[in-house]
Amino acid sequence: MVRKVYLVGAGPGDPGLITVKGLGLIERADILIYDRLAGEELLSHAKPGAEPIYVGKRTGAHAYTQEEINRLLVEKAAEGKVVVRLKGGDPFVFGRGGEEARVLREHGIEFEVVPGVTSAVAVPALANIPVTDRRYASSFTVVTGQEDPTKGARLDYGALKADTVVILMGMGNLSGIIEQLKGARGEGTPAAIIEKGATREQRVVVGTLGDILERGAREGIGPPAIVVVGEVVRLREELG
Ligand code: SAH
Repeated sequence: MVRKVYLVGAGPGDPGLITVKGLGLIERADILIYDRLAGEELLSHAKPGAEPIYVGKRTGAHAYTQEEINRLLVEKAAEGKVVVRLKGGDPFVFGRGGEEARVLREHGIEFEVVPGVTSAVAVPALANIPVTDRRYASSFTVVTGQEDPTKGARLDYGALKADTVVILMGMGNLSGIIEQLKGARGEGTPAAIIEKGATREQRVVVGTLGDILERGAREGIGPPAIVVVGEVVRLREELG
């Protein structure tokens, strides 16, 4: 009996942006373990009798801890089921996919990662913001706004050297992050916040490091959102 879990990237929100391989696995899965960013529409491709298990956060309901998710993956795979762990974007970009893969290995269960289109690049793209550009940006960096509190050294956002900075999970600590970036890059640096990108509910706020917080607050922008900082934000107008 093959005991295996597929860690599948669902893409950035638009169900059309999953890979062909990922979709094929959803169709074959006995068990589909998914969370909030993984696009529920994709589940309609599951075969009759497949069991979808939602492990994301839901207001008022119990959210699975990472330990519970790990246990669930191990248990279901041990039963010999075809288990698909569907994760938003790419499973190995800030998705704790690496952690899940390690736990599976420790339990002698095979895993296969199926990369996905990461929101870090696709969400800016769908807002007409290319993360690089020959004129404005030769490099981009993707950072988290929310580090593991038990990890030692903290990110210094002011010290980031890339031309374009893409911030995931940044909304909780946004004022502190913007403060550090402003110190290093100046208030006039273009910035954008994209809420629920790659979906019909997408909203985009554009400004500068000097006013983006205020603009975002005025529009009531909240997570899930991606913040893009750098000259490339100007291209939105050119391409729009
Ligand atoms: N593995 C995922 C990222 C998981 S971290 C990937 O590769 O895309 C979760 C963060 O991703 C969110 O807090 C948000 O910053 C960002 N994100 C994911 N999907 C998004 C979307 N459709 N719109 C805006 N931000 C998104």
